[in-house]
Amino acid sequence: MRTLYKFHGGVHPPEHKEESNRLPIAPAPLPKRLTVPLRQHIGSPAIPVVKVGEQVLKGQMIGAADGFISAAVHAPTSGTVSAIEPHAVPHPSGLPDLCITIEADGEERWIERAPLDYRNADPDAVRLRLRDAGVVGLGGAVFPSYVKLNPGAPARIKTLVLNGAECEPWITSDDRLMRERAAEVVEGIKIMAHLMHPEQVLIGIEDNKPEAAAAMQAACQGTGYEVVVVPTLYPSGGEKQLIKLLTGKEVPAGQRPVNIGVTCSNTGTAYTVHRAVNHGEPVISRIVTVTGNVPKPRNFETLIGTPIAEIVQLAGGARPDTVHYIMGGPMMGFGLNNLNAPLTKAVNCVIAASPALFPPAPPPMPCIRCGRCAQACPCELQPQELFWFSHSQNFDKARAYNLFDCIECGACSYVCPSHIPLVSYYRFAKSEIATRDMEKKLAEQAKERFELKQQRIEREKQEKAARFAEKAAAAAAAKAAAAASGVEDPEAAAKKAAIQAAVERAKAKKAEAAAKAEGTGTPADEIPQGDSDPLRAKARAESYAPQGDSDPLRAKARAESYAPSTENNTDS
Ligand code: SF4
Ligand code: SF4
Repeated sequence: MRTLYKFHGGVHPPEHKEESNRLPIAPAPLPKRLTVPLRQHIGSPAIPVVKVGEQVLKGQMIGAADGFISAAVHAPTSGTVSAIEPHAVPHPSGLPDLCITIEADGEERWIERAPLDYRNADPDAVRLRLRDAGVVGLGGAVFPSYVKLNPGAPARIKTLVLNGAECEPWITSDDRLMRERAAEVVEGIKIMAHLMHPEQVLIGIEDNKPEAAAAMQAACQGTGYEVVVVPTLYPSGGEKQLIKLLTGKEVPAGQRPVNIGVTCSNTGTAYTVHRAVNHGEPVISRIVTVTGNVPKPRNFETLIGTPIAEIVQLAGGARPDTVHYIMGGPMMGFGLNNLNAPLTKAVNCVIAASPALFPPAPPPMPCIRCGRCAQACPCELQPQELFWFSHSQNFDKARAYNLFDCIECGACSYVCPSHIPLVSYYRFAKSEIATRDMEKKLAEQAKERFELKQQRIEREKQEKAARFAEKAAAAAAAKAAAAASGVEDPEAAAKKAAIQAAVERAKAKKAEAAAKAEGTGTPADEIPQGDSDPLRAKARAESYAPQGDSDPLRAKARAESYAPSTENNTDS
C-alpha cells in the first residue's frame, strides 16, 4: 500500500456532494442559440475563422489557436453563424468578450471525424490534434493540454498525476464522470502516458467518492496505473497539495510541478483527450453540476455556449428565494452577474445560492492576529501578513512574502474569526502588481525605442558629414591635379565664361540706356564697339554729335559721353 504524505493546513467545509451525485449524467437538450467565447483558456484567445452568415457543422473549428499558449474553439452544433461580437461571459470581471453566436439548425450534422493512431503517430502530431481539438485542463485552470503534455527534455517527467480529488464542496462532475466513464478516462490517461513516458501514473481520488475510486480501479486493471484514495480534506485537489499527498515531493515556491519531474492533469481532461484522439471529436461539451437552491440538482452533459439560464432550468429552475449564482465551488468560485453568459470549458458547476444555504458574511472586523489563517494555509504562507501588505498597498512586501504562491483556495478566509475577505485582498494585490509590471515593461520598451531612434538620428548625421567631407576632399584633389597639369579646370572655365558673358550683356544694356537718355536717336548698337584708339574713338563720337550746338564745351562733353569704353575689354 502506498504511503500517503500530508500537506500543511487544510479545512473541512460541509461537502454537499450528495445533492447532485445520486443521479447519472443527463444529456442537456440542444438550445436554439449557442454563444461560443473565443477566450476559454489561459493564453491568447482563438482567432475567428468563420464569417457571419456562414453555415457550420457540429465540431467544425470556428476559432483557431493563436500562438504558443492558446487553443481552438468549435461549433457545438450545426447551424448558421449569426454574430461575431462581444457578449457576456462567465468571468469575475463581469466584462463582455468576443464570442461567435450560432443559430442551431437542429440537424446536428457532424464534421468528418477520424481517429488518430497515436501509438504509431509522431508525438507532435498527437499534440497538434489536442491543440486543434481545443483540449484544455478542465479542472478549472483551462491551461492548453498540448503544452502541458510536452515534457521537453526526454524522461523529464517521472510521475504523471491524475487529479480526481474534486475537493470543492457541492461539485460532483468528476465523480459522476469517473463512475460512469472510467474506461474512457483511462484511455485518455494512456494517451497522456504515451506522450510523457512517466515512470509511474498515480490517480488521486478523495475517500468521499468510493464508487468513483472502485470504477477507476477496475478500469486500470492491467495498466500499471495506481488509484490512490486520499483523505477528504480541502484543498487536496490543489495541484501542489495532491502531488505532496501522493509523492511526498514539495513544489518549491515560484516553481511548477514539472521542475520536480511531475505533471498533473484532471480526470475530466483525460476523458476529452480520449475523445479528441480516438474519436476525432473536439471539446464541444462538458459535464456541469447544477446544484444549490434548485429542485433537481444533477450533472448535465451540456454543449459549450449554452446560456447558463437554460442550464439552471434543466435542474428545475432556481427557487424564488435564490439571491445569486456561483460559478464553480463556494470556496474558489465567483459570483455570476449575468445568466445570459454561456457555458465555457472552465465552468464545472453552477450553484443557485439562497440566504439559507449561503448566509451573508458578517461585517469584517479588525485582524486580531490569532494566526488561524496561517494554520489553515495549504501553501504555508502568512495570510495575515499578506493581508496587511495588500491592504496598505505595500505590494513589494506582498510579493516578497510569496503572494503569487497563493492558490486563492479561501481556507484562510474560511477560518478567519474576524470574517475578513482575505482572498479578495490577495486578488486585488495580484492584479495591481500585474498591472504595474505591465506598465513597467511598456515604459522600458518605449525607452528602448527612443534610444534606438536617437542612435539612428546620430548615425545618419555622421554619415551625412562623412559624405560631405568625402566630396570636398575629392573636389580639392581634382583642383590640385588640374593646377599641377596646367589645364584649367573645365568647370571653373565654364563658370568664368558665364560671368564674362553676363558682364558684356550688362555693358550693352548700360550703353543703350545712356544713348536713349541723351535723346540723340542714335542707337547704342550703332556706335562702333571695341575701338582701342581713344583719339579715333573721340573723333568718331564727335561725328555723331548733334549739329548746331553753339557751345563748343558742352558739345565736346556730349560727344565724349558717346565714346566707347575700353574698360574691361578682353579683346584689347
Ligand atoms: S485568521 Fe483573521 S484575525 Fe486571525 S490572524 Fe488571520 S486574518 Fe487575522
Ligand atoms: S487563499 Fe492563499 S493565503 Fe489563503 S489559505 Fe489559500 S493559499 Fe493560503
